[in-house]
Order: sequence, then C-alpha cells, then structure tokens
Amino acid sequence: MKETTQNIINIQHVTKRFGEKVALADINLYVRKGEFMTILGPSGCGKTTLLRLLAGFDTATEGVISFDGTDITNTPPYKRNVNTVFQKYALFPHLNVYDNIAFGLKLKNTPKAEIMPKIKAALKMVNMSDYEYRDVNSLSGGQQQRIAIARAIVNEPEVLLLDEPLAALDLKMRKDMQLELKEMHERLGITFVYVTHDQEEALTLSDRIVVMSEGEVQQIGTPTDIYNEPANAFVADFIGESNILDGTMRHDCLVTVAEKDIACVDKGFLIDEQVDVVIRPEDVEMTTNTAEAQFVGQVTSSIFKGVHYEMLVVTDNGYELLVQNYKHFEVGQTVGMNITPDNIHIMRKDCTANIY
Ligand code: ATP
Repeated sequence: MKETTQNIINIQHVTKRFGEKVALADINLYVRKGEFMTILGPSGCGKTTLLRLLAGFDTATEGVISFDGTDITNTPPYKRNVNTVFQKYALFPHLNVYDNIAFGLKLKNTPKAEIMPKIKAALKMVNMSDYEYRDVNSLSGGQQQRIAIARAIVNEPEVLLLDEPLAALDLKMRKDMQLELKEMHERLGITFVYVTHDQEEALTLSDRIVVMSEGEVQQIGTPTDIYNEPANAFVADFIGESNILDGTMRHDCLVTVAEKDIACVDKGFLIDEQVDVVIRPEDVEMTTNTAEAQFVGQVTSSIFKGVHYEMLVVTDNGYELLVQNYKHFEVGQTVGMNITPDNIHIMRKDCTANIY
C-alpha cells in the first residue's frame, strides 16, 4: 500500500470479531488529510464497526490503526483527535443550543472567554448563526443535525466521523443537507470519514469511496472510478443499476454474452474464461433498425422516470435487459440494441480489487 505523509489515517490488516462473527476481515485502507472518504455498503457489511474502531469505541481484534503515523489502535476515544456525528442527533434535550455545543468545550476546560467566540464560529460554519439560545426541541430534524455537527466541530478535531448523519431526514432535506455538508467540508478543510448505505449520496459527496460487503473491502476509488470501472459484479450491482450476464471470452476482444459474440476491450482475460459481463442500462443504444443490431428484443415494460424511460427488453433468445432511453418505445415493440466495446465491462468472477 502506498503510504505518504499526506495520509492521516492508516488501517492495516484490521480484523474485528464479535465471538464467531467476523465483522471486518483484513481491512487495508488509508485516508488522506482533508479528504472526504465514504464507507459504502449494504446493511451489516461492517461500516459502523469500522467507524467505531476509528472513534475508539471498540478495539480491533487484529491489525493496526494509525493517525498521523502514530499507532492509536488501543488509544481511548477522548485521547483521539476525532469527533463523531451519529444518525440520531444525540443532542441533550434539556439544554439549549449554546449549552449543547459548549458541553465538549467545558469538558476540555476551555477558558470561559473563548467559549462564545468558538460557538459562534461553529454555528456560522453550519449556517445556524443566531440560534445559540434556541431550545433544541424547537428545531427541525435538519437544524438539529446541523447543531450536532457544530458540536462535533467546535473542538476543531482533525477528523470528523459521520455515521449516516442524514438517514433520519426526509428526502428533500437530505438532498439540501448533502450540498451543505460538501460545502462545509470544503470550508472546514478537515478530514471527513462518512458512512452510508446510499450509493447516490456516496457518489455525490465523496472524494473517494470504499465499497464494502460482508466485512470485506470490494473496491476503493473515486466516484467515477467506482461507477465507470466497478471491480466486480457486486460493486456494479450496488452502484447504480446494471445488467449482469454470464459471459465466455472468445479471444481478447470478443466475448459471448446472451449467446451473441460482442466486441469488448482487451483486459487480458484467457480464452474460454467464464466472466461476468456488466452492462449499464444507460449504455444500451436503442434503435428501430433491427437488421444490423447486436441484440434484438421486445419491450415488455416501460416506466417514465422524469427525464428518461426505463424499459425491460427481452431478447429474441430469452435474456432480459434493463435499458434507459430518453425516447419512448412502446411495450410490445421490437427494438434493436447496440453496446459499444467501451461499455461492455468484463469482470473476473468472485474478484475483489482494491485500487490504492
Ligand atoms: P447498518 O448499515 O445496518 O448499520 P453496518 O454495515 O454498519 O450495518 P455493522 O453494524 O458494522 O454493519 O455490523 C457488521 C456485522 O457485525 C453485523 O453482522 C452485526 O450484526 C455484527 N455486529 C456488530 N456489532 C456487534 C456486536 N457488538 N456484537 C455482535 N455482533 C455485532
């Protein structure tokens, strides 16, 4: 693994077991200083466990976690320069905004004269200036979450850990808060490690994403890497919608998929190798010219999605493809479908690839 002085967090061979249950299996990962890093994966894949190890609420069974080059695997939470924002805002309901934010400052014996300026600065950072004397119960969910973030950043931690902080908000508020979080991250300049199971949120917010499944890292990369070059069928399926079909390599640039020989880009596969072929719905070009098309099929369903139509097409040899198009094709209509070699993503079966 590449290690540079720019890495603020380094996780090496970390395993976490709860009795027989392996929640994390040999995780290797670094986070760069100032980066917005997201841990993404389905429920139970180990995201929260990993965040809790970074916060110090739990300890790794094996492996080493270091911050700024110092081993902190067994360092208690209060001695780490990190703060955590949870899904449930966890504000003290009997305290007003000021006292909620001041709590951590007082614990750290911050001189009295410094408290108010720090609170004002933190409130400004989360777009909640002048809210210091409000009762927290009178605030909306989104406002409460901003106060929770203000409370977490007021001590100026080097790293902010965020565990599904927007999950309890309604869709509109979640979208607004996503943009605010991204701006906040840029203004603060501190490292964010963000946990979510929402792939769209991860793609929108992150500099890099770690995709996890069943306690293992499946892929690490930028949102475009992960979307355009998924390392395996799990990632392709989890990030956006995909058609995943069984394929057989014919030679370097030709794969048999859905019983057709289709041109692809050479990625060094073996002749006769069994592979997963991933095709994004938006990459299927649809045409009424069926004579020269790679696949021919019949539209079996069509749903208008606001900007485009999402359709199911069953090919003449019985394979179902999910396709997207700005143009509407009628249910029952026979259509041709073409996919350019660049958009035929070929993956080794059962492969995980960490991109460092
Ligand atoms: P979710 O999105 O549902 O919160 P997650 O990806 O954050 O899921 P974790 O909470 O990290 O997943 O859990 C990973 C696995 O470890 C799960 O199978 C979970 O049941 C198990 N696990 C977590 N904490 C404990 C614990 N304290 N004792 C036993 N098993 C645990």
